[in-house]
Amino acid sequence: MGFNFKGKVAVVTGASRGIGEATVRQLDAGGANVVLVARSKDKMNEIVVELENESLVVDCDLSADRTIDLIRLRTMEKFEKIDILVNNAAVERNEPAHRATAQAIDETLLVNLRQAFMLCSVFAKDLFATKGNIVNVSSTAAAGAGGTQGAYAASKGGLNTLSKNLSNEWANKGVRVNSVAPGLCLTEMWEPTFELLGEENVLENFVKRVPLGKWGTPEEIANVICFLASDLASYVTGQIIRVDGGMLNI
Ligand code: NAP
Repeated sequence: MGFNFKGKVAVVTGASRGIGEATVRQLDAGGANVVLVARSKDKMNEIVVELENESLVVDCDLSADRTIDLIRLRTMEKFEKIDILVNNAAVERNEPAHRATAQAIDETLLVNLRQAFMLCSVFAKDLFATKGNIVNVSSTAAAGAGGTQGAYAASKGGLNTLSKNLSNEWANKGVRVNSVAPGLCLTEMWEPTFELLGEENVLENFVKRVPLGKWGTPEEIANVICFLASDLASYVTGQIIRVDGGMLNI
């Protein structure tokens, strides 16, 4: 799918693989300058050599406080503006609630929700200046149906509420804020589940819940992220778009 992002600067967190990497590649293909944020510097450096436009790698751990200001500083130093913020980085833990630790809950809420909110906040005035937009990547897990994902589900529910709240708060600044909620998408995020329950078992059985009968690809999620980030979605804000092959349809 082709989008026009010429002259746009986009910051994508969780850019080193999976949905984030696919989003980076599509934004770049549309002409954007992309700032890639994640911990795996080598992986991001491998991606940027294949990009068409000038880009920037900011390797940092989002669970550290100071990284938020660093991401803005490095973006402004290099590109002097931001048009698109994609909050995509996340940690996912599958553990029964009765075994949850405060540390695990804190880390999940910190990376998935608090730091996403902080990035919206530190980039707010820059986004007002460009009438930019934000796409927060949440999850169908926000509906709470998955089980054993309490902190993760809560973080994604929080992110959806944040999108709606900011869309109202910043509409009069011309800034749009939306969420994309993927269902089953084949990425490294599933490795721990594969190890626990067996890869074949998970691949075959989880898909039975999907009316379209297949796992999603990172590119299929990135298509919708890029649509919302593009001017084609200029009249769309405060929405949570599920990209789940119909899994949560009722
Ligand atoms: P993934 O392959 O595990 O990628 C996660 C990304 O987040 C990686 O680039 C990782 O980079 C980054 N990240 C994690 N912790 C970080 C930290 N502390 N600091 C900086 N970066 C960090 O996951 P994915 O499947 O592409 O998921 C992308 C988004 O889609 C997430 O928000 C996820 O919740 C959501 N989602 C995915 C699915 C699915 O089925 N895959 C379903 C629903 C929602 P480094 O390790 O290099 O830091």
